[in-house]
Amino acid sequence: MNSRTLIPAPVNEPVLSYAPGSLERAKFYARLSELKSRKTEIPLIIGGEEVRTGKKHEIRSPYDHGQVIGKVHEGGVPEIRKAVAAAAKARADWAHTPFEARAAVFLKAADLLAEDWRWTLNAATMLNQSKNLHQAEIDSACELIDFYRFNPHFAQDIYAQQPSSSRGTWNRMQFRPLEGFVYAVTPFNFTAIAGNLPTAPALMGNTVVWKPSGAAMLSGYFIMKLLEKAGLPPGVINMVSGPSGPITDTLLASPDFAGVHFTGSTPVFRSMWNTTARNLPVYKSYPRLVGETGGKDFVVVHASADPDAVAAALVRGAFEFQGQKCSAASRAYVPSDLWPRVRRAVKDMLASIEVGSPEDPGNFVNAVIDRRAFEKIKGYIVAAKRDKSNKIVSGGVCDDSAGYFIHPTVVESADPRSVTMCEEIFGPLLTVHVYPEKKWKQTLKLADTTSPYALTGAVFARDRKAIQEAELGLENAAGNFYINDKPTGAVVGQQPFGGGRASGTNDKAGSFLNLIRWTSARTIKETFDPPTDYRYPWMGREKKT
Ligand code: NAD
Repeated sequence: MNSRTLIPAPVNEPVLSYAPGSLERAKFYARLSELKSRKTEIPLIIGGEEVRTGKKHEIRSPYDHGQVIGKVHEGGVPEIRKAVAAAAKARADWAHTPFEARAAVFLKAADLLAEDWRWTLNAATMLNQSKNLHQAEIDSACELIDFYRFNPHFAQDIYAQQPSSSRGTWNRMQFRPLEGFVYAVTPFNFTAIAGNLPTAPALMGNTVVWKPSGAAMLSGYFIMKLLEKAGLPPGVINMVSGPSGPITDTLLASPDFAGVHFTGSTPVFRSMWNTTARNLPVYKSYPRLVGETGGKDFVVVHASADPDAVAAALVRGAFEFQGQKCSAASRAYVPSDLWPRVRRAVKDMLASIEVGSPEDPGNFVNAVIDRRAFEKIKGYIVAAKRDKSNKIVSGGVCDDSAGYFIHPTVVESADPRSVTMCEEIFGPLLTVHVYPEKKWKQTLKLADTTSPYALTGAVFARDRKAIQEAELGLENAAGNFYINDKPTGAVVGQQPFGGGRASGTNDKAGSFLNLIRWTSARTIKETFDPPTDYRYPWMGREKKT
C-alpha cells in the first residue's frame, strides 16, 4: 500500500440502557429465546474447520441447571496436535499480511459486534455465565468492542516507535511476531477477556491456540464465529476444548510454544510457569509468559469519607456479577466512628436487592457460575458463621434448588487476618474489618500486608492528606488504584488493567504494554555508502617535520 494509513481514532462504545420499551431490550430478548431453543452444538475450530469428536458433554445454565443450553465436543491430544500444526501452517501468511489488513479484521469484528452480533454475544453471556443485561452489555458488547478498536490503535503506535539514524545510514525496527504459536487460556468471568486474549497476539501477527474456559464455551464459540464473519483467515486462531491438564501439557511440550496469554487463578498460572521452566531446553525461544490472575481487592475508608458513597461502592463493588470479578471488593477497612452509618446504608441497600434469574431484569444479583463455585463459596460462608471473631451483617443464604444462588453476604470480622479477609473467594462475600479511627496509618500497613495479591484497591476520603497517604502507603498493593470510586469497572483506554505481586505479570490488557509482549523486534541497519577499506583515518601517522 503506498500510503501511511491511520487507524480510526477509537472511542469507547456507549453502554445501551435496555430500559423497558427500548429497541435493544426487544432485540436482546428475541435473541435470548432463539439461543435457548437452539441448544448449540459446539465443535472445536481448527484450521477454520469445525471438528466434531463425538465425545460430547452437555452445558447448562448456572441460573437454571435443569436447562441444557448446548453440547460441547471435547478434544484430546490428537486434536491439540492438529491445532498446533494449523497454527504453524497459517503463520507465514498471517505474519506477513499487512498490518492494515490484520487490523481491519478486528475493526470489522467491532462494528459487527456493535450491531446484530451484540444480541448474540450478550444473550450467550447471560445464558452461559449468568450475567444480567447490564453486566453482559458492559462486558461482551462494550469492552470487547473497545478491545477490537483500541488495540489496533495501540499497535499502530508501537510500530511507529523507530530508532534514529545517523548520516549515511537508515535504522529501522521491525516488530516481528513471536517465532511459534501463542497459547491463550481464558477464564469464565469475562467474555471480553475471552475475546481479547487470543486476538491481541493475533493482531500483532501471531497465530494462536485458544482454550476457552469450560464454563464459557457458548460465548467462546460465538466469538470464533464473529471473527470468522469478520474475515479472520483459517488457522490464525484455533479454538480447542477438553480437559485442561492434558491440553496444556501437550501445548507446553511443543518446541514451537512461544508464549502464554493467560487470565485465571494464580495456582493455574503458577503451574504453567513451572512447566515452562522445566521445558525450557525444548523451546526454540524463551516463551513470553503473560498472566493476569487472582485478587483480594480492598476498600480502605478514612474517617473523612462520605459514608453513603462508601456504602454504594461496597455494594456495587462487591456484589455486581455476584462478586465474580477479579477486581471485586472483598475486604474493607472502615473506621469505628463511620461504621454505624456505613453499616446501616449497606444493609438498607442490600434489603432492596433481589436475587434470581438474570432473565428478570429486576434481579440485581444472579447465580454463581457452577456447582463447584457454589460449594466453595458456601463453604467460606459456613466457616465464617462459625468463626467467633465474625458477625454476619447481611445475607448468608445459599440456595441451589434451581440455580446456584448465593445472597450478597457481608461479614464483620474483628480479626483483620481472618480467612475471609485474606483469601480470594470469588463470590458475593464481603468482609469488613472495623478499625479504631485513630489507627489510620497502621490500617494502611495492614491492608498492604494482608494478602499476597495486588490487583485492585480503593481509598475513600475527603481529606486530601489522607488520600496522599493512602496513595503512597498502598503504592504496590494494587495495579489499579481508585480514589473515591469502587475498585471494579476498568474501561479499555481509560484504566489499563492488571496487577502485580501474586496477581500477575501486570502487562495491562487493553494497552500498548500488553501488545508489545507479542512482538520480537528486529533492528535493521542499512548503510548507503559502505566503506571499502578497513583502515580508519585515525590510523594515519603525522608527517615528521
Ligand atoms: P481458573 O484458573 O479456574 O481457569 C482459567 C482457565 O484456566 C480456564 O480456561 C481453565 O479451563 C484453565 N485451567 C484450569 N485448570 C488448568 C490447568 N491445570 N492447566 C491449564 N489450564 C487450566 O479461573 P476461572 O475460575 O475461570 O476464573 C476466575 C479466576 O480468574 C479468579 O482467580 C480471578 O481473580 C481470575 N481473573 C483474573 C483477572 C485479571 O485480570 N487479573 C480477570 C478475570 C479473572
